[in-house]
Amino acid sequence: MSVQSRSISHHRMFTSRNGAVGRGLSSESSSPAGDAGAGTRGMPAPGFGEDVFTERAMRERLPKDVFRAYKHAITSGDRLDPGVAHSIASAMKDWALERGATHYTHWFQPLTGTTAEKHDSFLTPDGAGESITEFSGSQLVQGEPDASSFPSGGVRATFEARGYTAWDPTSPAFINRVGDGVTLCIPTAFVSYTGEALDKKTPLLRSMDAVSEQAIRILRLFGADAGVQRVIATCGPEQEFFIIDRRHFESRLDLFQCGRTLIGNAPEKHQQLSDHYFGSIPSRVTSFLVAAERKMISLGIPIRTRHNEVAPGQFEVAPIFETANVAADHQQLTMQVLRSTAEEFGLACLLHEKPFAGINGSGKHINWSIATSTGSNLLDPTDSAHSNVEFITFLVAVIRAVDRHADLLRASVASAGNDHRLGANEAPPAIMSIFLGDMLTDLLDQLCNDGLKRTKSGGTMDLGAKSLPRLPRDSGDRNRTSPFAFTGNKFELRASGASSSVSWPCTVLNTIVAESLSDLADELEGAVGTRTLGQSEIDSILLPALARITAEHRRVIFNGDNYSAQWHAEAEQRGLPHLRTTEEAFGAYSSPRVERLFNRFGVLSPRELGSRRAAYTEQYRTQMLIEARCLAAICEEHVIPSALRSATRFYGVNRPLNAAGQAAPTLAARAETLVASAEALARTVDRLRDAASLADAPAHGEEHTETRHVPMINEAIVPLLGEARALADLLESRCAESDWDLPRYRDML
Ligand code: ADP
Ligand code: MG
Repeated sequence: MSVQSRSISHHRMFTSRNGAVGRGLSSESSSPAGDAGAGTRGMPAPGFGEDVFTERAMRERLPKDVFRAYKHAITSGDRLDPGVAHSIASAMKDWALERGATHYTHWFQPLTGTTAEKHDSFLTPDGAGESITEFSGSQLVQGEPDASSFPSGGVRATFEARGYTAWDPTSPAFINRVGDGVTLCIPTAFVSYTGEALDKKTPLLRSMDAVSEQAIRILRLFGADAGVQRVIATCGPEQEFFIIDRRHFESRLDLFQCGRTLIGNAPEKHQQLSDHYFGSIPSRVTSFLVAAERKMISLGIPIRTRHNEVAPGQFEVAPIFETANVAADHQQLTMQVLRSTAEEFGLACLLHEKPFAGINGSGKHINWSIATSTGSNLLDPTDSAHSNVEFITFLVAVIRAVDRHADLLRASVASAGNDHRLGANEAPPAIMSIFLGDMLTDLLDQLCNDGLKRTKSGGTMDLGAKSLPRLPRDSGDRNRTSPFAFTGNKFELRASGASSSVSWPCTVLNTIVAESLSDLADELEGAVGTRTLGQSEIDSILLPALARITAEHRRVIFNGDNYSAQWHAEAEQRGLPHLRTTEEAFGAYSSPRVERLFNRFGVLSPRELGSRRAAYTEQYRTQMLIEARCLAAICEEHVIPSALRSATRFYGVNRPLNAAGQAAPTLAARAETLVASAEALARTVDRLRDAASLADAPAHGEEHTETRHVPMINEAIVPLLGEARALADLLESRCAESDWDLPRYRDML
């Protein structure tokens, strides 16, 4: 699709593209995603990647043969030779010292969802009373942080502290500047002494290998693998977030501790008039965004889009897509930069999925595709999709993958925060389905019926005024309600939450698609061996196989309104899983099918999968307990005293009135409500505290206490959180402004 044909919606006008920055993708080709279009290729942006040890910096600083060996390793995915690593380490150190770095760190993504780092100085005593700077190849390649305080989900006991970090040479090193500290950050994977993954990057890299290997088998059958060293999973995450004043943030314990408000009434006016979406961005926020983007640019994050979102105070930024592991690193950095820069501007950036009840929450759309190392996007239908059998093959493989493992994909986006968003008529429901749009649906109909004959086109639109151009119309509309939507030349996983890392959903996507491609390759190679399919074999073997797979799995395709009750009923009839809560969704991690899947492609051993289930469940449990205790504290410290203050002031006035025979019964009733509701709230708070203690009690002799406790949380704590909130919100609405000492929604938004 050309840029012109894609510039109809507002969103696209913000993102007209002029080339891809995809790291590890061929920069010579027009674009890996076929979306380069008519833009002009200009000068490199000033400052872009100035704090990154880029390929260009390496080319300038490394001996030619070393650089060549590095390039080869990156494109092929092969391991680097120790001598090459040593040479790179030395150049990297010099480069970092020139930029003021004093320390280096192996930067990694533990299962907490954030990033971790332990800083080491470059200085080493030289034995003659002086210090020299030192950084060897082995220091670059391997680190040994104490791993005992990171969640391992039972893979490792606390006393087994040894963990290793291993350099990921495909993600560039960068300089992190925090306050006066200047640190060289080396993206790494993090594993235990036994070699088991303790992080989110290791399985992501393994899954990228898996999908690459299987996709190349398919390409080989098409004779399309010439020069393709690797197939690369690409990812472009769109980040939504709220910006509020820092004073408000700091005076709300719930925002500070839980990332979301646990009480509060929606203001009279919020998003009803839809006057915020794409509106002009307020100037303080613009200044903050500009500063944050400047930092992202110097970190080499190809940030592209910024706009207001639906809710007041809500915004979105999106980069140009990159190789999935680099995109995942950049996504973590983006969240860090947004948070820290907001603080500098006296603002707070809220990345929670649902900071304010009753107001739209925030998601993180994960745009995903696979492209060859020669720059061709395997999910680009091109203009005549019906004759593009290769595209249809990959498409059908993705459809089968999602249908087979819808529960796992759902689990990959499950979190306490996302439970407030999914299915709440602002985000997709907790049922995984695929939106394909008219053109592709028509194509699959043809595939299953009388054969592929035509590609539906959208035609053009005449806007009625002579001076306006005729606009080409896309072949299908978009669908904002779908959890997994085809959007022109990629899929968009719209169900993931704003605060999550993209690594895990991308790992799941890569692995399920690898499996589907592998099964297809097995089937085809079984019939023709590993040679190229001839036209007659395409007609007699491939197309019937694709038609069969489509028929078997098309129940997962749904182009309608995912929010509607009819769909939820229909999805149930179709047998699609509807996993409403995190607890239900995590069940997927115990499925033998899922265990086999990860094991078969070497992405996660059964023990590693089990450790994820345990670690994620524990996170969920802990978060819910923090919410329970935080809500109790807020009610006790703020809500109940405020209510009593208001009531007391009323009684102070009412008693003399009564004495004078001038009773005010309506006002008296209001004051009674304040007291009665405060009393009810105090009771609920006691029950909430008791329930939290019970769900937090150490279990005897059980290995995975967290799985036992989660049902207790959902049965006891979740309803009590709701009950306490309803009472607190009622009290807020009845209290005098001057008695209420917490910032309200209307102050914050
Ligand atoms: P939308 O489709 O949501 O209107 P864009 O087309 O601008 O918006 O894309 C949104 C995100 O998808 C951007 O981050 C963009 O870089 C990313 N994207 C585009 N093509 C691909 C691709 N082939 N693989 C992964 N992400 C992609
Ligand atoms: Mg989008």
